[in-house]
Amino acid sequence: MSDALEIKREVSTFCRVCEPACGLVATVDGGQIVHVRADDDHPVSKGFACTKGIASLDIHRDPDRLNHPQHRVGDRWERVTWDDAISGVASELRGVIERHGPQAVAAYVGNPSAFNTLAGPATGSFFAQLGMSRYFSSGTQDCANKFAGSEAVFGSSTIHPIPDIANTDALLVLGANPRVSKGSFISISNMYREIMQASARGATIWFVNPRRTESSGERTGETLQIVPGTDVFLLAALIHEIDAGPGFDRCVDGRGKHVDELRAFVAGYSADTVAPIVGIDAATIRDVATTFATVPRAAVHMSTGVNMGRHGTLAYWLVHMLSFVTGNLDREGGNVLSVGFYASAKAGRRDYGAGFVDGEFGPMRRGSLPGTLLADHILDSESPVKALIVLAGNPLFTIGGEERLREAFESLELIVCVDLYRNATGDLAHWLLPSTDMFERPDINITGLGLQSEPWIQWTDAVVEPHAERREEWRIFAALAKEMGFRSPLDADDPETEVWARTDHMLTGRGLSLDEVRAAPKGTVKFEDGLAAGEFYDRHLQHADGRVDCCPDAFGPSIAALADEAVAASDASASGELRLISRRDTRMHNSWFSNVESLKRGTRSNNPLDVHVDDATRLGVGDGDRVVVRSDWGEIEATVRLDDAVRPGVVAIEHGWGRQSGMRLANDKPGVNVNRLLPSGPGSFDPLSNQAWMTGIPVTISPLTISPVTISAG
Ligand code: SF4
Repeated sequence: MSDALEIKREVSTFCRVCEPACGLVATVDGGQIVHVRADDDHPVSKGFACTKGIASLDIHRDPDRLNHPQHRVGDRWERVTWDDAISGVASELRGVIERHGPQAVAAYVGNPSAFNTLAGPATGSFFAQLGMSRYFSSGTQDCANKFAGSEAVFGSSTIHPIPDIANTDALLVLGANPRVSKGSFISISNMYREIMQASARGATIWFVNPRRTESSGERTGETLQIVPGTDVFLLAALIHEIDAGPGFDRCVDGRGKHVDELRAFVAGYSADTVAPIVGIDAATIRDVATTFATVPRAAVHMSTGVNMGRHGTLAYWLVHMLSFVTGNLDREGGNVLSVGFYASAKAGRRDYGAGFVDGEFGPMRRGSLPGTLLADHILDSESPVKALIVLAGNPLFTIGGEERLREAFESLELIVCVDLYRNATGDLAHWLLPSTDMFERPDINITGLGLQSEPWIQWTDAVVEPHAERREEWRIFAALAKEMGFRSPLDADDPETEVWARTDHMLTGRGLSLDEVRAAPKGTVKFEDGLAAGEFYDRHLQHADGRVDCCPDAFGPSIAALADEAVAASDASASGELRLISRRDTRMHNSWFSNVESLKRGTRSNNPLDVHVDDATRLGVGDGDRVVVRSDWGEIEATVRLDDAVRPGVVAIEHGWGRQSGMRLANDKPGVNVNRLLPSGPGSFDPLSNQAWMTGIPVTISPLTISPVTISAG
């Protein structure tokens, strides 16, 4: 039966926008998806899905999507066949490698690839066979610090014990806004609801954020409005006050190493010392410390608001320490490692201290290169990058320093973009290869592995066949590999079986096969052992000596530098210097929804700059005024929105905006790319993790127009 004659049917699938992977039901009629709703019968998400998950259908149906391979000839885009695109890209890649060597090819892989099980292995294999080693990813914009921090403390980058919110008595949430963002490095159905339920049964909840977020309030808990970028000092003070007060848990001596070094480090950060740095009074810091250490069960969660600051790796280290020294690591109601369908701790095992290199632009962590050095590798390298392959990413906008990146990209001999849209980076590309969205490819919920509060695995078929000539990412890279004479899954008798063999093998530890998962109701198997505490130290901790490293040697230089930074932070606060932070909205996910009409209406036609009334008064600007925002690295124009939820001295703006000519709505309602204000080049990232410095940026504001309306404090 042809698709057009197909009767109406409902297909169970799941969302691949963020970690919760909420269950969805798509209604298909005549081969087209006509409706998407939350899956009420899903065993984990139980009818929860957010605006973005539902609006993903708009992306699927967007007339601006890339539907055919395209080749840029001069200023014109020409539609080409897939055969011509694959042979053309392969031929140009060969040419670059013959002229400049394989190191002249670089790759940038964006965040959506993390939600696409087959994309990572396919690109990894292709890039390795090309012989290239310059690999950039969006991870260095928002989470590289977490991989580094866990590798140092636990011996594995894949160990991220999550807060057991359902059973905790106290929860400390730093740099996260779960009501809006739903959760990063934690897969939980409706985290905000879970926090409300915890609060309702008496748990104490604290949010730590420069902005009083939508998540805080009477139904959850208060926000401790911290000075941006100073979370590391707050965490040090909490641990110090615990050491000086209730004391470390007994488990620390038996299970930890370098405990004295941790004690020596935090000794310099009492609540009284830290209070003027973080902008939270000492009594409150002591109260949080005492409560966290003395309630039966306490949990901690840290997210992108801290990751993207200057000290994300050290802050994550101290998050782990807070849990460990209070005996809450691997305790029900504390922080617990989720295992899920595959025990992945061993797969992430690496010696953190041996993982550094002296790169061309200074010391850095081995692995994914700092995104903020991409322009330098193109413009300033002794062996410059000449070709860039971009998968599901928009590095021109998502990395700091748009102008220099634009200059760099315009100098390249070859840019190939594999994407849903012709985004801002795609505008500068030579080849555009159209990929599939989440409704057009089979998948499993891989991103939640090791992060799920109720572990489960779900298989989804493609809900519909790829529209027009859109192609799954693994097929694109497999075709390129074949064309270039490399090993390719397309050479296998059954390529589908070949590409899923790895997942099938991973399931054997659970006594399952992929076929059994496929055959399960809704393609879903929920693991009844759930979020089980009690096995972490003996089974998952990866340091050879079986101990938690409480003060990794490799952190030494960064720890030493913190003292000076504490003084600088204190001086900056006292001088009234403005700090820029990034904020999030329920209708945007990085830049994913920038062309979705239903999410970009009314007041959401740009990304205003939130300014506290006190600062607005001081600066002589009012609601709706246009201002120039300047940093040491760039300037933008933005529209002021008065907001007493931001801490005085802090301004906030949503990222992911900017003009993109290949997307009509993103072109007509562009907002502004705030990343133009962010640092790039040497010194712009944390050498402990390669994580870019993207929030807590010093800025100045000048009025572009003056509002005739007198500013009121209301
Ligand atoms: S919370 Fe995340 S996974 Fe769930 S529907 Fe929303 S975007 Fe999708």
